[in-house]
Amino acid sequence: MITIQDVRTWITQPERERLVVVKVITSEPGLFGLGCATFTQRAHAVQAMLERHLKPLLIGRDVSRIEDIWQTARVNGYWRNGPVINNALSGIDQALWDILGKRAGLPVHDLLGGKCREAALVYRHADGQSPSEVVENVEALRAQGYRHVRVQLRQGGGFVYGGGGVAQPPPAGALPGAYYDPRQYLRETLRLLEFARSRLGDDLELLHDVHERLSPPEAVQFAKDVEQFRLFFLEDPLPPEHLAWLPRLREQTSTPIAMGELFNHPLEWQEVIHSRSVDYIRMHVSQMGGLTPARHVAAFAAMHGIRTAWHGPADTSPVGHAANLHLELASPNFGIHEWCEFSERVRAIFPGTPEAKEGYLYPNAKPGLGIDFDEQLAQDFPPRDDVEQWTQARLPDGTAAFP
Ligand code: MG
Repeated sequence: MITIQDVRTWITQPERERLVVVKVITSEPGLFGLGCATFTQRAHAVQAMLERHLKPLLIGRDVSRIEDIWQTARVNGYWRNGPVINNALSGIDQALWDILGKRAGLPVHDLLGGKCREAALVYRHADGQSPSEVVENVEALRAQGYRHVRVQLRQGGGFVYGGGGVAQPPPAGALPGAYYDPRQYLRETLRLLEFARSRLGDDLELLHDVHERLSPPEAVQFAKDVEQFRLFFLEDPLPPEHLAWLPRLREQTSTPIAMGELFNHPLEWQEVIHSRSVDYIRMHVSQMGGLTPARHVAAFAAMHGIRTAWHGPADTSPVGHAANLHLELASPNFGIHEWCEFSERVRAIFPGTPEAKEGYLYPNAKPGLGIDFDEQLAQDFPPRDDVEQWTQARLPDGTAAFP
């Protein structure tokens, strides 16, 4: 029997995001697995969860008992679910799938049922200070072969989910923060989408992320207003706190709806899928606990005609993107992969990072997740631990708001 001999956790910040990487070392010399546990805003809490709580629980366990370890570890603290616990579980879980693949000499997508397709369709992000700058950036991506692009207007400070600034200045003495104006955002984003569709033509797929910045009636109005632009999907029109509104939104618009990056409790996605209130589920796979729960949810979604679009900006590490890719290749109901092109610096830390070509993300032929981790290089980029500014969101009158 091959057992878990050690669990090691690194936090590295080669770019803006703190990445949390887990290495499960086995009793077999040279055999290890890698997992993504990236909760970039609370990376040290995840590391403590792994080192102080999960490692003592898991040392000596059979590495092949992936499902049993996940089920056991998730309730071992009795109180369960939550971003810190789930990300830590994901680090272990993905590493165990990686180990299983290496032992079998097979890529993880083969262990999950085999390829349903050769590569995963991807979308990229384009933003800018003005509609014309956004369209220029979309054209640059189209020239690289991408046909699916998320478009966002950027506010002055480089913030991509606002757009349009604040129509009415805040009252005297208002607290500092990342201010946004939902009404101004609506007007500016409609102008952006109208401009983008007119300049880019019909054969380019546009996506947009509301980032939960609208009230329920505003979200309904917006989803109806953008029907004419035939979005591939509209992301997070509402926050998880307003899930009860989602079926009403879904019934009133033909715009495809995508949601899920903030979900951590199974009750958040169970009813959403069962009621067919979304068209794409897009949980952050490490945030939901790793490949084991994600494959269960993907199968559940498939039964309801709902596709996957797992959350995948740069705060999913290359290990996490590789895990997403393997699951996507084996999921009949895969929709699209959110892809950020990693820098050369990040690629050097993670040899084997998947490659995108002509709008598709390809796995490599290596067993397991097919990705490696340069521990020495990662240590050259220690976490900087700046306090997050963009999440200190406020409405025009100074009220604290969803970021
Ligand atoms: Mg999003």
